[in-house]
Amino acid sequence: MTSNFVITPPQQASLAVLGSDARFPVRRIFCVGRNYAEHIREMGNDERDPPFFFCKPADAVMDSGSVVPYPPDTEDLHNEVELVVAIGVGGRNIAPEDVLGHIWGAAVGIDLTRRDLQSVAKKMGRPWDFAKGFDHSAPIGALKKLDEATHLDKGRIWLSVNGAIRQDADLADMIWPVADHISKLSHSMALEPGDLIMTGTPAGVAALSVGDVVEAEVQGIGALKVTIGPQVN
Ligand code: MN
Repeated sequence: MTSNFVITPPQQASLAVLGSDARFPVRRIFCVGRNYAEHIREMGNDERDPPFFFCKPADAVMDSGSVVPYPPDTEDLHNEVELVVAIGVGGRNIAPEDVLGHIWGAAVGIDLTRRDLQSVAKKMGRPWDFAKGFDHSAPIGALKKLDEATHLDKGRIWLSVNGAIRQDADLADMIWPVADHISKLSHSMALEPGDLIMTGTPAGVAALSVGDVVEAEVQGIGALKVTIGPQVN
């Protein structure tokens, strides 16, 4: 194969697909900021703050079964279990009622966070990139292809550490449901096939340690299991 690149092009980042050897190519990873109310959701659209987004690099993804290295430059690595949605058909200015038609599938993932770096970033008004978008920061289980039986608006979402449940909620607790926040996102960025959206985490985030076994599931979508490996220096 001929190539006109001056160095070898990077390998295409990808996710496993449930029940298939084929893989889903990842283009970008958008993440939704705070999207679950801790208690009872306030009613009425006008009372919701608009959703906000940040990004992780595509090659931060890791398959279920991986050993995820404890990242450098932190003493407070946190778990954030999230529903992950994969875009199969691109588009912009997508109406909420049309969002499902753009989704290829969904999975469970973890938005790993260097919480100490994020706290400094918030305090100093700096970007979140290094708190959120570090190497190996997005373990994501196999994607389930969307079908008539798949629902993204309800279903238990949980995460355990060494067998103890740490996060336990329901997709129905989202302040901005999938159709709403992806519609909002598509009014700011044209979505493209291969884009992922990590849809925010419920309560129960806390520190992870080297050796921890982390399991997560979204009911009816999929599961994920990773081990936290030795710290990278
Ligand atoms: Mn998150």
